[in-house]
Amino acid sequence: MKKITILGATGSIGDSTFKVMENNPDDFSVVALVAGTNVGKMCRLCQKWQPKYVVMKDEGAAKALSQQLVSLGLTKICIEYGVDAMCQVCSLDEVDVVMSAIVGAAGLRPTMAAIKAGKRILLANKESLVMSGQLFMSAIREFGAELLPVDSEHNAIFQCLPAEAQASLGYCELDNLGVSHILLTGSGGPFRYSPVNSLVDVTPEQAIAHPNWSMGPKISVDSATMMNKGLEYIEAKYLFNASVEQLKVLIHPQSVIHSMVQFKDGSTIAQMGEPDMATPISLAMAYPDRINAGVNKLDFSQIGELTFIEVDYHRYPCLKLAIDACYEGQFATTALNAANEVMVDAFLQRRIGFTDIAALNEKVLERICSGENPSNQLDLESIIDLDNTSRLYAQQILNEY
Ligand code: NDP
Repeated sequence: MKKITILGATGSIGDSTFKVMENNPDDFSVVALVAGTNVGKMCRLCQKWQPKYVVMKDEGAAKALSQQLVSLGLTKICIEYGVDAMCQVCSLDEVDVVMSAIVGAAGLRPTMAAIKAGKRILLANKESLVMSGQLFMSAIREFGAELLPVDSEHNAIFQCLPAEAQASLGYCELDNLGVSHILLTGSGGPFRYSPVNSLVDVTPEQAIAHPNWSMGPKISVDSATMMNKGLEYIEAKYLFNASVEQLKVLIHPQSVIHSMVQFKDGSTIAQMGEPDMATPISLAMAYPDRINAGVNKLDFSQIGELTFIEVDYHRYPCLKLAIDACYEGQFATTALNAANEVMVDAFLQRRIGFTDIAALNEKVLERICSGENPSNQLDLESIIDLDNTSRLYAQQILNEY
């Protein structure tokens, strides 16, 4: 029985994690659940999963949850709030596995705490790796933690790579293992066939209606701009120690193939499945075993065609920004990640238009990277400082807009 802490328990990845646990009740038990402010949903999760600890983002949410649980007679659950408490429930001796699925930069500190405690980390929160890059991968090695990618593309690549690469994430020598390319596939989001000049009118409702996947609002908007693929590109570079020549992005509208690895002998290995996050989550939870994820097998007779399209950066300027930032270094990726969170939020609040997300992200990057000698050797505190500064610049640029 593996004991788990779930960061982001009330979100979409949280839902899929519970689905896997429901299908495998003897294999996993909950120690702690962590979320932001969704008190109603956390209350229902507490009734069902009876965690020992719950951590909410702030005091108000913790108090409201406490009142609801007391009224239901659930008085034994320890309820805390704030980042330090989130870090603590990731580091408890009794915890074996930490699902890292808080959205955005808020996931960085708790995920780092789990790494420092040497846990098995199931990484959905790509933003924490995008922000901290090599520092993250070095900490995994230094503290003997085990990293398993949950993002469906990285999980697919992980499955396609040889065992030696799986055992040395962040440090594998792809070339020595016979790997020539990693093909990171993406659906292209809801606007892959829309005229580029119509994107200016896209509404938040249209942007979050992903054609294949059901996800939280931030990642859905990121999928529509393909910033999500850009963040995944950066994530893949660090996870698989891939070079610019080895890493390629390809649009695959059906989301049947979740990514591929090409080898020097001309072979290509692809991982395929229904677009359901329970599959990669179950693999990460049970690795190296395979368990019932509660997901149907593909019915190839119903799929028809699989198609592939080259990326058009004119349609997806956010993807270009992210790839460029990846090779500029840690400074640029941390700043871009922060800027993008601010701009996506402003778009969801209808303060800016869809195409403004890329334009304003670029302005923040220009402003922050033009400062004196940006360093790419950042420790955790300087990463968090840079994240905060980038958000301030982003807010200024929004106010000037
Ligand atoms: P959701 O928006 O559905 O859920 C986000 C979760 O994070 C919620 O539980 C939310 O709590 C919690 N949260 C937000 N802010 C804080 C905070 N400051 N402190 C603590 N908890 C917080 O997002 P998803 O589940 O879709 O995505 C989660 C992560 O997984 C993201 O990094 C995303 O990129 C990644 N991912 C998601 C995929 C998907 O299919 N959904 C696929 C691959 C990766 P509350 O609701 O209570 O406020």
